[in-house]
Amino acid sequence: MTTPNMHYADLKDSYLFFNIAQKVKAYSGAHPGTRLLRLGIGDVTLPLCGAVIKALHEAVDDQARADSFHGYMPETGAPFLREVITEHYRSRGVDLSYDDVFVSSGASDELGDILDLFDRSSSALVIEPAYPAYVDANVIAGREIVHLASGPDNGFLPRPPKDIKADIIYICSPNNPTGAVFGRDQLQEWIDFANSSGSVILFDAAYEAFIEDEDLPRSIFELPGARTCAIEICSLSKTAGFTGTRLGYTVIPKELERKGMRLNDMWIRNRTTKTNGVSYILQKGGAAVFTPEGQRQIRENIEYYKENARILMRALDKAGIWYCGGKNAPYIWLRCPDGMGSWDLFDHLLNTIQVIGTPGAGFGACGEGFFRFSTFGSREDTLLAAKRLEELLCR
Ligand code: PLP
Repeated sequence: MTTPNMHYADLKDSYLFFNIAQKVKAYSGAHPGTRLLRLGIGDVTLPLCGAVIKALHEAVDDQARADSFHGYMPETGAPFLREVITEHYRSRGVDLSYDDVFVSSGASDELGDILDLFDRSSSALVIEPAYPAYVDANVIAGREIVHLASGPDNGFLPRPPKDIKADIIYICSPNNPTGAVFGRDQLQEWIDFANSSGSVILFDAAYEAFIEDEDLPRSIFELPGARTCAIEICSLSKTAGFTGTRLGYTVIPKELERKGMRLNDMWIRNRTTKTNGVSYILQKGGAAVFTPEGQRQIRENIEYYKENARILMRALDKAGIWYCGGKNAPYIWLRCPDGMGSWDLFDHLLNTIQVIGTPGAGFGACGEGFFRFSTFGSREDTLLAAKRLEELLCR
């Protein structure tokens, strides 16, 4: 009899979003017609910007004519897109070669697939609270997982522990769910740790576009030593509203080697074996993000979400609630008031002011007692939610 991958049985029920959906459904059933204010979503609400839409339309037209039609695209990405991404890094002072950059269909796909580069016996360190896919992808592969708890004492930005050994290290900065961002010195410590221990850092930069403080690193490759220990995984999902369109990119410098194997070469081999490239149309749409017009338009959208963040932060400030994130990230991570548990706060907010957030406990055990608000909602919902939060919490 075929033996399936029995590690699937080791996965904990992904009850976070399921449980939220069940509770919201039950509430709506009992209170038909009540307006719910959704600050739990990790999806964007603004449409794609004009420059991207124009490029997508033009690319569709290209596919209608024999002289501009494109069939299979290179598995590692279209040269025109890899070039503009490389130029984008260069404009921020990071010198990459265009073949260090791989086009992907999104960070989620890549975060799962990239594990093919590592032996199953390797261990994975996950800084928690964490995006749940890091743990689950490694459970599926049967890897040992080292959970590194973080908390308000270290601003949710822990230092590399001296006594821990891990082959793969996940760093998400700006972080989902905490919104915390590693400073240069803090990130440098992890780079030095990885280089000295021979680990590889998977740097999830899905939210880099939300960083507004000039001194915070937006790419791990801004720092010395990163090219010999890090892979950077990026996404246009939150940067440019591509959640439903699907496009991302991954940087694997050619200097990154372990045990005589060059990870960039391995990834070329992996992509040419397991994919047939991302569609021409989407890559054309993605390239438009990196034009001056595209950059200006995506900044406007990001600014909209940032104003949502400021509205929510003002309400929390007035209520004297501790939080982090919000300034350089689209998430606000707050301490539940009055020692409440995170699911208790979820129920309380839903039942009293119809605001939906995400309980911190869903992102790892150390998330208990904390709560996440997303700033990707509509302005109308955010304003109303902030007003109600202020009234409730300032009582
Ligand atoms: N990484 C983090 C930290 C995320 O929060 C998300 C999505 O919410 C992703 C990756 C996935 O991004 P994509 O839409 O590109 O798959």
